[in-house]
Amino acid sequence: MMTNKINPDAMSREWNYHPELPLADSSLFKWPPDPRFLSRWVVRNWLTMSERVIMVLLATLCWWLFYPALESVKTFAFGWVLQVWLVNLCLMIGIAGGLHYFFYIRKEQGKRLKFDHRDLARGNKLWNFSNQVYDNVFWSLGSGVLQLTMYQVVIMWLMANEYVPTINLTSNPILFVAGLVLLPIWSAFHFYWMHRLLHLPFIYKHVHSLHHRNVNIGPWSGLSMHPVEHLLYLSSLLIHFVFPSHPILVYFHVIYLGPGAAMTHTGYEDLLVRDKRRLALGTFYHQLHHRYYECNYGNQEMPWDRWFGTFHDGSDDGTQATRTRKKTMHRNI
Ligand SMILES: [Zn+2]
Ligand SMILES: [Zn+2]
Repeated sequence: MMTNKINPDAMSREWNYHPELPLADSSLFKWPPDPRFLSRWVVRNWLTMSERVIMVLLATLCWWLFYPALESVKTFAFGWVLQVWLVNLCLMIGIAGGLHYFFYIRKEQGKRLKFDHRDLARGNKLWNFSNQVYDNVFWSLGSGVLQLTMYQVVIMWLMANEYVPTINLTSNPILFVAGLVLLPIWSAFHFYWMHRLLHLPFIYKHVHSLHHRNVNIGPWSGLSMHPVEHLLYLSSLLIHFVFPSHPILVYFHVIYLGPGAAMTHTGYEDLLVRDKRRLALGTFYHQLHHRYYECNYGNQEMPWDRWFGTFHDGSDDGTQATRTRKKTMHRNI
């Protein structure tokens, strides 16, 4: 796998843009641990204005100003549940809509750092309303934000009543910081296994294929899923039943899974400001999953795809191996 060849001409026919290939091993669990790589990871993710830092700031802002306080959610009531849903709706529309506006309406960045050559689909009956974006918005808001809110209000109610372990910032600052770092790692672990389940041929056909109609992805594709997939994907939040959490950790996790999916599915690698890469967005790693299906089920920070032989490094050999795997998996369908 590691000596895989790259044919530059074929690659530029295949992709509008791709990072240097074959993809390097950027797993956090690379063995032996490389202190330089790990410290760069910390700086890139936590000590700059990264996707993650933006999400923590948003979670804090929403906790402080927009979500109801825990003291007021001890019993279920229509008012506060509606409030949580409205905040989530605004977050999703603001982030997915904002990115869509920037990249696909204003076309601020043209096709620079865009993986796929094509524009988002219109006039194709594959999509509800014959429009990929409208279809994606429909599933993201109709089912995605609704189920995200459902999980969140149950956790908030449990926390308010102290049925689940809860921490506060002054007495458990270390656990709080550990939670911020560990939640995305947990969520990537959960995502990999749920995603393997979703690719079992029967479930794939009836559930996950809805997300995979998006071969060419845009921000609204991230949370555009079948309701059963939302239920499984968002169950990552159940970790708060056992992991001692502060509400900000829960809201960070909610934003990471919901609007965060829009950030990882823009179809672009980075956001450029005056030709400088200012914000890392999607990865070629997941773009390969949307193009070739039976590879890269996890994300590049985690070692699972490498360990279980489902890693596609972007080379021709990787594509060949993926096609063979797909044939074997779907042989009996
Ligand atoms: Zn995806
Ligand atoms: Zn998939």
